[in-house]
Amino acid sequence: MSTRRQLIQRIPALPLIFSASAAALLAACGDKKPAEVAAPAPVPVPEPVAAAPAPAPAPAVAAGPLVDEKDAQAAALGYVAVAAKADKAKFPKYAGGQVCSNCSLYQGGTADQGGCPLYPGKQVLANAWCSGYIKKTT
Ligand code: SF4
Repeated sequence: MSTRRQLIQRIPALPLIFSASAAALLAACGDKKPAEVAAPAPVPVPEPVAAAPAPAPAPAVAAGPLVDEKDAQAAALGYVAVAAKADKAKFPKYAGGQVCSNCSLYQGGTADQGGCPLYPGKQVLANAWCSGYIKKTT
């Protein structure tokens, strides 16, 4: 079996027809010596970018009024200000020890009250509970 280089070299008229490009064609066969290999084009080095300004601290969750157990959303979700008073018949999901402060949705950290995305603009008590409870895993 002939290589492309050998095949090209066997065509006698090829250098006459393509005198300038024949050499390039042969070189393209990949049979070049390492010294003939052109150095790769330099990779442009990006200009250093000025450090971006530090992001502004996240705005504190706006304090709002406490959720009222009688609010429509609160009543629908069985929100109670004291978790132990959860309606276990209506919300059998409730288990002792579940409170807002160990719910993954609670935004109050270690505070006595904080935000909850289920009650936008309002605060829930750390010891409250509702059926939206999701156990915090971390
Ligand atoms: Fe509390 Fe979680 Fe219900 Fe929000 S979803 S009120 S944090 S139990």
